[in-house]
Amino acid sequence: MAHRRRRLRFLLTVVLAALVTTLGLLSASAASVGLQRITITLDRKGERRSLLVDPPATVATVLALAGVVPTTGRLLSVGTGRVLVEGNAKPQLWLGSHMVDMETPVTDGASLRIVEAPDEVEGTVDAEGDVPPPPLPDVISELWRPGLPGRGRVARGLRSGEEVARTTIVPGVPPARVTDKEIALTFDDGPWPSTPDVLRILREKQVKATFCMVGYTLEGEGITRAKAVAGEGHTLCNHTVHHDGHLAKKPQAVIDAEIVGGNELLTRRLGVDRPAFYRPPGGSLSPAVTATAKAQHQTVLMWTIDPSDYKKPPATEIVSRVMGALRPGAIILLHDGGGDRAQTLAAIGPIIDQARAQGYVFVTPDKVTPVGSPSAAAPTTAPAPPPATIPGPLGQGG
Ligand SMILES: [Zn+2]
Repeated sequence: MAHRRRRLRFLLTVVLAALVTTLGLLSASAASVGLQRITITLDRKGERRSLLVDPPATVATVLALAGVVPTTGRLLSVGTGRVLVEGNAKPQLWLGSHMVDMETPVTDGASLRIVEAPDEVEGTVDAEGDVPPPPLPDVISELWRPGLPGRGRVARGLRSGEEVARTTIVPGVPPARVTDKEIALTFDDGPWPSTPDVLRILREKQVKATFCMVGYTLEGEGITRAKAVAGEGHTLCNHTVHHDGHLAKKPQAVIDAEIVGGNELLTRRLGVDRPAFYRPPGGSLSPAVTATAKAQHQTVLMWTIDPSDYKKPPATEIVSRVMGALRPGAIILLHDGGGDRAQTLAAIGPIIDQARAQGYVFVTPDKVTPVGSPSAAAPTTAPAPPPATIPGPLGQGG
């Protein structure tokens, strides 16, 4: 009996031991489950939050768990604020007092601080240099001398070159009306079959003129004639695509199509730079038309003398109308296109000869000598004319 009792006690001991071991293992396992997650404090823009993270963890896993993408700073231009460099500055990541990177391991209780990279504005550089002269009026109906550049100190963005500040050291000289005996011939509505005849007369007389061309004529032979005009050194001018004499009353879309379209035809079909001048068909002008030309960097070129050659008066009548109205700075309106130009062709030579006999010199409105320079019409020994004062209102074109 005593033997059986000992045996029972042994079994109980074994069972108890097994039970204790199992319980111990279970509790150890429970303890290890509790250790698996670590607590990290995330500090971003002064906002703190705690996160429970599974080890092993790095800065990257903490940020991914928090759904945080630290902001990368951009470099912005000083004038317009456009982005010059994306990723100009990286955000800083700090664990305590150590700057770390995304791969750095984090341990329980760590405090991860994100310092976002701010956008930066580029620096500026100051330089002294020429500043452009005050511009010509938006609309001219007689010849103007361009002004003279001034001197100034200009602050620009280091990278963008954007101008942010300008200090005048010496002011520019404003443009001024021509008061010397300089005049200009302008020819409208070409190219046309008579254009080569006009060119021949101008070549013989050694005169440069301005040709205000209509876009729709720039086809086939018209292109050849127009290229001859440009090739012989005459000045080109935009006279719209379709020669709408009432453009000022049309919607902006039509004004754009006619003015911008005319420039595109001239530059594309002739391979020239955009002309500096716009001449409105029929003189049809409005603030919208002027603004559209200005936006195309064009001055509206009106005229001083309109002898109505398009109405085909006798050549002698065209000549006398021009000569009777001639004055310094005059812009003479004639036509190389738009119909039979026999009377105009017969008038050009006498106009040139008679004007020259009176001491006039022919120039183009883009090549007038600047204010203060000896003019083409003035004797070289004469003193330069003093700069003129600010112009008054413009006269009406014909
Ligand atoms: Zn015209």
